[in-house]
Amino acid sequence: MYADVIVNLSVKSIDRPYTYRIPADLEERVVPGTPVMVPFGSGGRVIKGFVTGLRTRAAISDDRIKDISGICEKSNEIEEKMLVLAAWMKEQFGSTMNDAIRCCLPVKDKIENKTVSTITAGCSREILETALGEARAAKRTAARARLYEALLAGGELDRSYALKELKLTAALLKKEEEKGLIRITTVDEVRGPYKDITDRDVPPEPTPGQREIIDSITSDLRAGQRSDYLIFGETGSGKTEIYMNIISECIASGKQAIMLIPEISLTYQTVSRFIRRFGDRVSIMNSRLSKGERYDQYMRAKNGETDIMIGPRSALFAPFERLGLIVIDEEHETSYRSESSPTYHARDVALKRGALEGASVILGSATPSLESFAMAKAGRLKLFKLTGRTGTAVHPDVCLVDMREELKRKNRSMFSYALREQIENRLARKEQIMLFLNRRGYSTSVSCRECGTVIKCPHCDVAMTLHRDGRMICHYCGYNIERPTTCPACGSRYIGTFGAGTQKIEEELLKVWPQARILRLDSDSVRRKGSMDETLRAFERGEADILLGTQMIVKGHDFPGVTLVGILLADLSLYSPDLRAGERTFELIAQASGRAGRGAKKGMVVIQTYDPENYAIISAAKRDYEGFFEEEMAYRVAMGYPPAGVMLAVSLSSEDEKVLEEASKQLSEVVRRLYDDRSRFKVIGPAKASIYKIKDVYHMVIYVKTYDGRGLRALGDELRDRAKAVVPEEVRVEYSFNI
Ligand code: ADP
Ligand code: ZN
Ligand code: ZN
Repeated sequence: MYADVIVNLSVKSIDRPYTYRIPADLEERVVPGTPVMVPFGSGGRVIKGFVTGLRTRAAISDDRIKDISGICEKSNEIEEKMLVLAAWMKEQFGSTMNDAIRCCLPVKDKIENKTVSTITAGCSREILETALGEARAAKRTAARARLYEALLAGGELDRSYALKELKLTAALLKKEEEKGLIRITTVDEVRGPYKDITDRDVPPEPTPGQREIIDSITSDLRAGQRSDYLIFGETGSGKTEIYMNIISECIASGKQAIMLIPEISLTYQTVSRFIRRFGDRVSIMNSRLSKGERYDQYMRAKNGETDIMIGPRSALFAPFERLGLIVIDEEHETSYRSESSPTYHARDVALKRGALEGASVILGSATPSLESFAMAKAGRLKLFKLTGRTGTAVHPDVCLVDMREELKRKNRSMFSYALREQIENRLARKEQIMLFLNRRGYSTSVSCRECGTVIKCPHCDVAMTLHRDGRMICHYCGYNIERPTTCPACGSRYIGTFGAGTQKIEEELLKVWPQARILRLDSDSVRRKGSMDETLRAFERGEADILLGTQMIVKGHDFPGVTLVGILLADLSLYSPDLRAGERTFELIAQASGRAGRGAKKGMVVIQTYDPENYAIISAAKRDYEGFFEEEMAYRVAMGYPPAGVMLAVSLSSEDEKVLEEASKQLSEVVRRLYDDRSRFKVIGPAKASIYKIKDVYHMVIYVKTYDGRGLRALGDELRDRAKAVVPEEVRVEYSFNI
């Protein structure tokens, strides 16, 4: 046996590992991630390396290969812990070791530091004014005049602004600094907008419900008992307060904590709460950080300069040596799943990292994922329920509107009579309204406006997708049909895609209520206006009556002034070609409803749907998560979908459509020959991926479903070996488990 060994953690080294022979007596113990000692270079100096993979055959001749000298016993460096985690991820999610390492460790790369330089006056105001006078009078000194003017007007000046907008040169600024007229100070832009927060909050006294959970978890922590928990409590029930109490206990005992928050909720509002509680022991990761900033944050964490890392998915890999706790808030969020290799889910990795390093894991959600709730039911997670909202807020009334009835009553607009009436009286009472259009699957699915039937695949029970050529395709099996012109269930001709986007709705609203002040928040408006935070804050300040948006407005924002939430089409997410469509629908309705009546006044939620009998919609309207869980789980069991079954997705991509098609066919035949339908594996596809063509690259996918996880991983390994024979080089193949 041979091992691929990297000798330092740089990009180059990961891409080009060295091959070593594994002595027979070590064979049992060498696995990916194992730290080993190897002779290196012509002098044969023995240095430390890490095993990234095993192979039975070496690519170079045997006499040029050296033996591994030995295994590094007992080492505790964070890099090694992370490599063990990477090795596990490779196995678990079917990625390459390189991808897994890249994910777990920010490998050394060229780093540029992002800094902010500020220009201030280096002299008194009088001197600067004199200098300005002189510059204005003299010739060819207009640039200097602009500098002095700006400084006198604003007191200070951003250096990059001075360069770009005032068109000053770096040389000029340097000269002015030498003359002592200006001063330039440069700081690392790591803390971003939070550096200004210096005040600390006073933690509120926990409610009895919160106290019970805090006590239970902290007493486990104190007893040195590692456990995993699920806190199931609706939005606003006080989960974040619980996390903060436990994190506080954790760092008081000398440990460190990771707090994951979905990227979309990583707003000023949420983050500043942690800063106010924990001050500068908090480090923040987000996707807007540059590579250099990321590396800075990483080093800060590694050097023990911070105790708490807050961030999205990637913060999970914070190099804390003394990790005691990982919290995943809103654990059901889709952004916790990585779309690129390794296609991991933060929850699985957190549980693994926690187990490896003796850290506890807390998952929290108002609408737990099926995966987590099933684990809780099986006793794998300790379940805590948190009921009731804090303060005076009460649950809103829920009104379910059957849009098919509206059509019968000749109402073809996007607003039901009930919703119109409610909007009318909120506007009259000067209370705020949130209108929410769920755009997932928008306009790519076809449904009947008279009876609500959605065109679904007869083999997979997921919505089929309408393609531009007019055909409808199932992305799970490739089954396709001509787009129907009448409803297969009731024969109605009112069948089609849903035509309205948020912009159209805004126009309709203004037609009916020209006086209404409307803020629109969707990916288009965010891109144009720059900041989502800004729009949300404007709405919070009461600068608009109606906030209209896509799912981005339902996440975690508190607007005490809102008393009406309208969900314009609750079913849209049901029509997305996704096995978790029901779960997403339940979750979106529950979250949207949670936005109504956060203040003292009682709120109301109007849910419009063409499918009022759907269990996801009914149970969401009733706030009955457990009822939903039972039905949804039964469906997953019947279909062999996760978490009941496991799936392997083999994704193939190429610029050459023909070659790709042929390779996909060949590979699926290999899979079928290995494991046909008679065995415990069901092979589906090949089918076009849900987005077939991206940037001129075509994508196909083959799914394998089974209840046998171990067997599926073995299949993955075997397939990887055999793929080489049937898949030409220009086709890229990726494997992902547990999708
Ligand atoms: P969740 O994370 O479940 O959405 P939060 O912890 O954010 O809930 O709490 C919702 C609101 O209630 C916040 O404004 C928070 O400051 C407040 N809150 C939470 N716990 C308490 C408490 N024990 N006493 C007073 N206010 C609280
Ligand atoms: Zn119909
Ligand atoms: Zn199908």
